[in-house]
Amino acid sequence: MDHLLELDGLSVSYRTADGPLPAVRGVDLVVDAGEVVGIAGESGCGKSTLASTVLRLQPKDAVVEGEVLVAGRDVLTMGWGDLRALRWAEASIVFQGALHSLNPVRRIETQIAEPIQLHEPGLSTAEVTARVGELLEQVGIPAARSRVYPHQLSGGQRQRVMIAMALACRPQLIVADEPTTALDVMVQAQILDLISGLVKDLGVGMLIISHDLSVLSDVCDRVAVMYAGRVVECGSAEQVFRAPAHPYAKALAQAFPRVGDPAARYAPAGLAGDPPDPHAPPPGCTFEPRCTLAVDACREAEPPLLDIGGRQSACIRVGAA
Ligand code: ADP
Ligand code: MG
Repeated sequence: MDHLLELDGLSVSYRTADGPLPAVRGVDLVVDAGEVVGIAGESGCGKSTLASTVLRLQPKDAVVEGEVLVAGRDVLTMGWGDLRALRWAEASIVFQGALHSLNPVRRIETQIAEPIQLHEPGLSTAEVTARVGELLEQVGIPAARSRVYPHQLSGGQRQRVMIAMALACRPQLIVADEPTTALDVMVQAQILDLISGLVKDLGVGMLIISHDLSVLSDVCDRVAVMYAGRVVECGSAEQVFRAPAHPYAKALAQAFPRVGDPAARYAPAGLAGDPPDPHAPPPGCTFEPRCTLAVDACREAEPPLLDIGGRQSACIRVGAA
């Protein structure tokens, strides 16, 4: 059986005035039906770049290598007709900052109807209206509110509308880039509940991206942690959040404690420093300059992502253990 999504040696670099900027470097990842896979990592680690390649929506100045397979079909090389058919109907994306991308002067029903009409031009107006109502109910908004404008909705409701749009053409795969980042904590929890419920009920697969590991640990089956364009740790959500092996995964888990976690309240931990400049990465492990456990050998070569007891980690200490 083909995976719903398979990334094979995916690398993306941007052409810039200062030369190529490597944003994603050699990422392998799969998502299967009924599964929620998370990608965590600080801003600038390449998460959005990776997400954009799933539907070949990366910016024009991006050079992509490797393979992106959706249901076994190569997205990077398929013809435009196939790509158009794929978008919305097989896979859809909720973009980072999507909350602000609803058109303020159009009713939400019109905006949700658009991809449906595009993909199923044979449907009658009544059928489209019924489908829009059904989608709104599915995301917890009464169908009777379909004629409101975006400004009449709260932030959380607008995010629900974005999710309804992503579901509009019944895709098997949904990519959500920072879907709750702009929301306050309570609303964030409601949206995450909604997302996990939908994945279960509809049996779809989901790739969900967040800089906040605690957000992912609540909804994901598996989590990959990215640093400087690479996956440095990958495992079950529980492993990565509760017992991270890579020092970066550990730092990230501590930087974003679960709400109400008493241990975190007494030992709030920041993550000092910044990810490296992609144009001038440090020699060896890219996390070495910030790593409190670094030794000389860390400066020699970038550690490979190794299998360790059911998960993967890219740290020389982990490999040696
Ligand atoms: P994240 O989503 O994890 O914050 P991004 O994928 O947005 O990371 O960015 C990864 C790297 O690629 C960053 O260094 C960013 O500055 C760079 N980048 C993103 N988009 C572009 C672009 N269109 N042109 C050049 N560089 C870009
Ligand atoms: Mg991003």
